[in-house]
Amino acid sequence: MHTPIAAALAATPEARAAEDILRACVHCGFCLATCPTYQLTGNELDSPRGRIYLMKAMFEGEDPGERTRYHLDRCLTCRSCESTCPSGVRYGRLVDAGRSLLERRFPRSPGERLRLGLVRNSLAHRSLFAAALAAGRALKPLLPSALAAGVPEARPAGGWPPVRHARRMLVLEGCVQPALDPGINAAAARVLDRIGISLVRVPGGGCCGALPHHTGDHDGALAAMRANIAAWSPALRQGAEAVVMTASGCGAEVREYAYHLRDDAAYAERAAGVSERTRDLSEVLAEHADTIAALIPPARRPQGAAARIAYHPPCSLQHGQQVRGKAEAVLTACGYELQPFAEGHLCCGSAGSYSILQKEMSTALKVRKLGHLLGTQPAVIASANVGCQVHLQSGTAVPVRHWIVLVDALLNGKD
Ligand code: SF4
Ligand code: SF4
Repeated sequence: MHTPIAAALAATPEARAAEDILRACVHCGFCLATCPTYQLTGNELDSPRGRIYLMKAMFEGEDPGERTRYHLDRCLTCRSCESTCPSGVRYGRLVDAGRSLLERRFPRSPGERLRLGLVRNSLAHRSLFAAALAAGRALKPLLPSALAAGVPEARPAGGWPPVRHARRMLVLEGCVQPALDPGINAAAARVLDRIGISLVRVPGGGCCGALPHHTGDHDGALAAMRANIAAWSPALRQGAEAVVMTASGCGAEVREYAYHLRDDAAYAERAAGVSERTRDLSEVLAEHADTIAALIPPARRPQGAAARIAYHPPCSLQHGQQVRGKAEAVLTACGYELQPFAEGHLCCGSAGSYSILQKEMSTALKVRKLGHLLGTQPAVIASANVGCQVHLQSGTAVPVRHWIVLVDALLNGKD
């Protein structure tokens, strides 16, 4: 679709990023059917096509206002629309550019900027978040039930095997995951160790950049990306095969490092190398599913009702990274019976900081998702992103676990 970018904006990085993407959209509307927010409200402006119209108008020179902000803020960046779009519109990159330009052309109020900064800083700084979570756990009995439901139980991580294999992979430690569920990375290390791969923690890595990125702190996001690239590059040069992602939300971000840093002369090449060698844990383990299954003692293989699980594939995995069927293949090989359910392509409403910033929409999506998942009467709900895990767990007593924790329990007898 023809998009005459306003002359005053043509040289901005946002317009350069957006122009071709805007042109690719033919406004067919196929994406409306798979957009979670449009499914909830039925409002065209809460759909990908409606948001593209709003951004197109802004790039063509129209002054943006509250209406544009309201509907862009309500977008989950789940990228379900990218999976559906027959024209290959890179909506995720477009909405990034649109939000960035909007921040400059129609700045938020100081109060709103403060709120976003608080959310960002309390989540993205590992020690700050861990302290807040510890306080939340200590005060949990005194909290209102709605608030207490969002505070996950502490679970021990268990041991981390020594680095002893020739095959080595790096792991992103992340920001919230080590505090929310430290057992996820440790379980990944134990399972990989059993199939001859050592998972290595590299000092200096931290938040993948997604949290600052999605709360409007572009510079903070780039700084986080550069820190990870600097931390991982030496080990990658020395033979580590890949950077393994155990949180799909982080994986979607790290795969985009090459794009975000494409104009950074000092980092572009290394960013491309990191993105190229980023693999979701499920991609690595699906290649070894039969080996893993053969290592499980027969007495530990799931039986009867305990074998029924509902696996929720996070948007950041199925849409953001276009990785599908891998964790499912490992779980099935291990003896779990995955229950089919409706609307598996729709977001659960977690979406990083969205569950805090857009409470109403997020809760509606959680209720809808849990309705489908619990309808299968699972013994456990599995997922591949700690955000989805904690978000869904706040609405049900059925255990919600990262899928690797289930595999580790079968192999190594822990949970
Ligand atoms: S984003 Fe794709 S599916 Fe949606 S209206 Fe544009 S071309 Fe059609
Ligand atoms: S990213 Fe998700 S919420 Fe946003 S427009 Fe696309 S499908 Fe809708």
